[in-house]
Order: sequence, then structure tokens, then C-alpha cells
Amino acid sequence: MRTSAEYREKLRSMRPNIYMGGEVLGRDNIPGVEIMDLTFELAAHPDYQHLCTATSHLTGERINRFCHIHQSPEDLLAKQEMTRVATRMVGGCIARCMGIDAMNALSVITYQCDQVHGTEYHTRWLDYLKYWQANDIVGCCAQSDVKGHRKRRPHQQTDPDLYLRVVERRRDGIVVRGAKAHNSFAPLADEIIAIPTRFLTPEEKDWAVAFAVPGDHPGVKLVCRGAKYRERVPELASPLSGKGEIESLTIFDDVFVPWERVFLCGETEFGGQLALLFALYHRHSYTGCKPAMTDIIMGTAALVAEYNGIEREDHVRKKLAELICVAELVYGCGIAAAVKSSRAPSGTQIPDVVFCNVARKHAGVNLYHEYDILADLAGGLPATLPYSEEVVSPEVGELVKKYLKRADHVSPENVYKCFAWISDLACSSMAGVMQYAGVHGGGSPVMEDIAILGTYDIEEKKRYAKFLAGIQE
Ligand SMILES: Cc1cc2nc3c(=O)[nH]c(=O)nc-3n(C[C@H](O)[C@H](O)[C@H](O)COP(=O)(O)OP(=O)(O)OC[C@H]3O[C@@H](n4cnc5c(N)ncnc54)[C@H](O)[C@@H]3O)c2cc1C
Repeated sequence: MRTSAEYREKLRSMRPNIYMGGEVLGRDNIPGVEIMDLTFELAAHPDYQHLCTATSHLTGERINRFCHIHQSPEDLLAKQEMTRVATRMVGGCIARCMGIDAMNALSVITYQCDQVHGTEYHTRWLDYLKYWQANDIVGCCAQSDVKGHRKRRPHQQTDPDLYLRVVERRRDGIVVRGAKAHNSFAPLADEIIAIPTRFLTPEEKDWAVAFAVPGDHPGVKLVCRGAKYRERVPELASPLSGKGEIESLTIFDDVFVPWERVFLCGETEFGGQLALLFALYHRHSYTGCKPAMTDIIMGTAALVAEYNGIEREDHVRKKLAELICVAELVYGCGIAAAVKSSRAPSGTQIPDVVFCNVARKHAGVNLYHEYDILADLAGGLPATLPYSEEVVSPEVGELVKKYLKRADHVSPENVYKCFAWISDLACSSMAGVMQYAGVHGGGSPVMEDIAILGTYDIEEKKRYAKFLAGIQE
């Protein structure tokens, strides 16, 4: 397994291909790098090793769990628990799920495609997985095409490149062209895994493509934007001050991919299945990170209620109970999805579709309500809080502190830190990104309804109704 220092060294050696704010950047100090660091540190930490490492089913070696293909319900449970624990530590997305969720989906689909079409994707993919595990790779997943006109299929777009596609097939590989939107943490990934985003029709063979390339591969352009928490003066800093995250519009500008890194090319029916399966694994990851985000909002809400002197009020306790119900129902559904999981012919464990999607939907529906509770209990100060420089200012610092004072037992500095954190969490550019991720990450909300209704047996429920109503046909 790599150390975070080795990981950073690798990032520094990569070709600068990050386009942000008018510059072309390398990978020094990319927002969010500390989050990736933690995924290496936890795997080496005696208290977290049991959760954050796994045994490779290929080599029997100890590997980072972010490189593992789930072999059992216990693996799914461990991934969920690891995600909840780690998300709490970084106060947001743990960033390394996307790549391994895509790898799990590929493990299933490449095998099934080979059985039907006599292709050799699974063998190729297994070789690639060995490389992943041996090098403790950080991957990201580029699924969401830019998609152009939403009501038109890939082959109906005015510009066919609005969905990523194969433009040339060569003896030694393929050339791909297109772009993937919202590619989280792509500048921090060793490898980008590109997969389709939707079901594909038989005439859409060129769009049925899945592959992996290094993040700095020739022709790959990462057009990025980042969000950061506000810096604070050192006396009032938090572990997250000045830290952030990054998203990429990942452009594949006629990128050559050698065959050994191509995992689907033309088998349209498996393109759609791959899209759905990645979303399923990713929604299972959400059953770990969304409860963690609720834990953070809940803890912050309880803290500010205490500082405001209102923690024993009935309405406050009711609101905290609501937050507990959101966190633990989502988490409980994730557990159920693991317990009710099934084994694919490839040997990979697949979480239950209905439980995963119910969890994701419940988290999404409640997302803005959770922020609403926090905003309610905090009052307006997170939106109007003076900057930290003024709290330590010789002229106005003491006055600012005097007027920050709330409950007697809390120092003005701690009141400030609490409200500055709420400002970060709920009232900043980072908060905006996290809220959008909470709505659309893992697919837009309607996709959960589609997945649930496509799997759930409503006819069975109608039979119960007919029986109880005395209807005989
Ligand atoms: C912060 C953030 C991080 C993300 N990270 C990643 C990532 O790392 N990798 C990745 O692959 N994806 C990522 N995503 C993408 C995410 O998984 C969603 O798939 C994506 O945001 C939805 O696509 P869109 O933004 O193009 O929205 P759209 O698809 O345009 O959705 C907008 C609305 O249009 C509706 N709509 C769309 N198409 C149709 C149609 N044909 N008929 C009727 N209604 C339609 C939708 O239901 C929705 O209501 C991320 C998204 C966010 C916001």
C-alpha cells in the first residue's frame, strides 16, 4: 500500500493538464488533496486498518479497501462503515469511492459481456485490477456525459460528440472523443474510468464504450473549478480552513486508448447495464456518506443550540430527533442492502437495488430540510459573521467578542469558531456544491424512482389488496 507522501509524489510527476482560472496547472496543492491523503493514512492506522483495508481476492495481499472488489455482504458493510467514519473526519465527500464503485461495476459487466459475446474484457480488466491493487490507485469515475439536448438520444444529437464515443478503431486500440461533466476530484486521480451514462440502442455502438486512462494521458484536458472554505487567522482556524474540493469538465480530445484498457466497445446492451450498476454501487456508498453528513449537521445543530442556551427546548429536541431518523434510516437501508445483496456470476457482491435506492432517495428528499433545521437553530449569524481578522483586531476585536457572547460557559472564541463552521458548512461556496452533490450525485432524483419502480413488485402488493378486499377474478 502507498503512503500519502508517495501518492503526492506521483501527483507531482504528472503532466500539467488542469485548466483553471486562466492557467494550466500541475498537481501541487489541488483543493481536496488532504482528503485523499486520509484514505492512505487510515489504511495504515492501527485503529482503522480493520475497516480500511481488505484482502485482495486476486493475490491474497492486504490492500486498501478503496481498491477492493466486494466478495461478500461483510465487504459491503465494511465499505459503508468506512465511508461513514471517513466522511465525518473530512466534513464532506471522501472522494475515493467513485473509482472503486466503477471498478466493482466493471467486474460484473465485463464478465457477463464475455459470456454473451465471447469478448475478452474480463481478462483484460482483471490484469488492470492487478495493476490497481499493486499500485494502490486513486481512481475517479467519468460517467455523466455532457448530454446536449436532454430529450435526444446520443445518435440524435446535432453534435455526436455530446456523448463520449469511439471515433476510430485501430489494430492497437481505439480513439475516443467527447466530454464528461461533473468529474469529481479528477485532478487528484491517478486514473480516470469512463463509462456510459444511459441505456443505449443498437445503433449506438460507438457510444457503448468503457475504458481507463491515466489522468494526464495525452489528449485528456481537465477543465476545473474548485471551492474552498474561507481562510481564518491562525488563532481561530479549524482543520478545514482554506481546504476545499475540485470538479472537472473532463475532455477527451481524440484520446488514444490501447485495447488492454478498453473494457467495453460496441456491446450496447451492456452499456446501459454498466451505467445502472455503477449508480447502484455509488448509491450504496451514499448509505455511508449521507448519514455521516447528517451526523455532522446534527452535531453542529446540537452544539449551536447549547451555545445559544436553547438545547432543552422541546422544538430543538424534536428537530434533533428528525435528524437522527434521517441518518439512521439511510444507514439502516444500506445495511439491509448489504444483508440482502446477491452474488454476480463474476463472484462480485451486488447490493440490493431497492434498499440502496430507497436510502439515496430518503437522503436526497431530506437534504435541504436538514440544512433548514441547522439554519433555524443557528439563527442568522452564519450569514453575517464578521471575518476572523476582526475578532483579533486591536481596534474592534474586544468589542466583536463582547457582542458574540452567548451561553455563560462558552468563550467568545468558541462561539466564533462554532458559527464560522456553520458558515462554512451551510452558507459558503463549499456548502452550495455539497448541497448540489446531495441532490444530483449518483444520478438525478428521478433516477432513484426509476430504479425502485423497475425492481419493486407492485403487482404483489395489488394481490394483497385484492385478497383483503375480497376480490376474486
Ligand atoms: C457536485 C457533483 C459531483 C458529481 N460527481 C460526479 C462524478 O464524479 N462522476 C460522474 O460521472 N458524475 C458526477 N456527478 C453527476 C451526477 O451523478 C448526475 O448524474 C448528474 O448531475 C445529472 O446530470 P446533469 O447534471 O446533466 O443533469 P440533467 O440530466 O440535465 O438533469 C436536469 C433535469 O432534467 C431531467 N432530465 C434529464 N434528462 C431527461 C430526459 N431525457 N427526460 C426527462 N427529464 C430529463 C432530470 O431528471 C433533471 O430533473 C456529479 C454531480 C454533482 C452535482
